[in-house]
Amino acid sequence: MILPPATLGMLGGGQLGRFFVAAAHEMGYKVWVLDPDPHSPAGLIADRHLQAGYDDFAALDTLADACAAVTTEFENVPAETLDYLAKFVPVRPGAAAVAVCQNRIAEKSFLRDNGLPHGPFAVIQSDADIAVADASLFPAILKVARFGYDGKGQARVATAAEALHAFHRFKGEACVLEAMLPLDCEVSVVLARDENGAVSTFPTVENQHSRGILDVSIAPARVAPAIEAEARRCAALIAARLGFIGTLAVEFFVTGGRLVVNEMAPRPHNSGHHTIDACVASQYEQQVRALCGLPLGDTTQHSASAMVNLLGELWFEGGEPHGRYREPDWSILHAVPGLKLHLYAKHHARHGRKMGHFTVVGSDAADVLAKALAARAAIGVQDA
Ligand code: ADP
Ligand code: MG
Repeated sequence: MILPPATLGMLGGGQLGRFFVAAAHEMGYKVWVLDPDPHSPAGLIADRHLQAGYDDFAALDTLADACAAVTTEFENVPAETLDYLAKFVPVRPGAAAVAVCQNRIAEKSFLRDNGLPHGPFAVIQSDADIAVADASLFPAILKVARFGYDGKGQARVATAAEALHAFHRFKGEACVLEAMLPLDCEVSVVLARDENGAVSTFPTVENQHSRGILDVSIAPARVAPAIEAEARRCAALIAARLGFIGTLAVEFFVTGGRLVVNEMAPRPHNSGHHTIDACVASQYEQQVRALCGLPLGDTTQHSASAMVNLLGELWFEGGEPHGRYREPDWSILHAVPGLKLHLYAKHHARHGRKMGHFTVVGSDAADVLAKALAARAAIGVQDA
């Protein structure tokens, strides 16, 4: 067991890393963050911010020397970086598990090979792959295999001709072509798995997206108990098959009353932010615990919750691209009972950039959702 006042290493310095730093500090650990961005939200509050690239081996040596164990908040850390660090210090999750989650082709193949439920798809590496793709996949979504997030690197395509056009627009990068599924709703499961294989899942969360970006998360999800149980079982199975150690998130589609895995994130997840305010242990505390070999914490959700993302457009008057730049009036949110505001201290707001979120907690699920949606409108979040 790694115990305080040990120093932990974090690869990546966004808001997920920032919440990890906060949880680790709360528990008595020190944290060093490696991130090239001088304004990194996690770097700002870390005990030390190594401002360097993930391929800077001198910086990786410094990190490995200082830290008792290293984790990540960012799935696109190169697998070579994780492998290199693992020669000197425990790295959790390991490179192999992260590699599956950072490439949609590897991810879909993993699901297929393990008999896990997934939607129809084709691997697209050349024009010819589109020509022979099954016509039943259309209408479809073409997604770049690597480095997509928040709906970026995706194109909705009605026909093979449109898919070809989009593939060229993505400069011929490897892609997956997924059948567009009719969604009843979207849900996710965040879990932690420790080095002994023990798994602890949080209750299933219901996610509403707007323009490809998470907008509102409702927990617990308003789905049938059988779906909730199946989602948790399936997520735990994925973690086991990946040999995963740390906090993992699995996104699902519910389509025709059935669960289908959409994608996995080898780190805490936006749809798990509410665990800070609504659960006994947060997804970030679980990440610390799994990393340090502590027993996993209690994932009981003690309050119903609704979480709302605050994107950069809120900083522009009227939500307009050229609106006046100004700080939103936070006093509006602070006046709402049961509302917890979290801001990430990002240097500058941009449209679509995740700047903060709030969670409304309470005893009545319908009441917290109504309050969260009213607060969302009051602060000025525009509907898609
Ligand atoms: P990201 O990495 O950007 O989160 P996702 O693959 O999760 O990418 O896609 C973002 C959102 O787009 C999903 O949450 C869902 O709302 C919608 N979407 C993606 N793929 C499909 C699909 N095959 N069928 C229907 N909707 C989809
Ligand atoms: Mg997603």
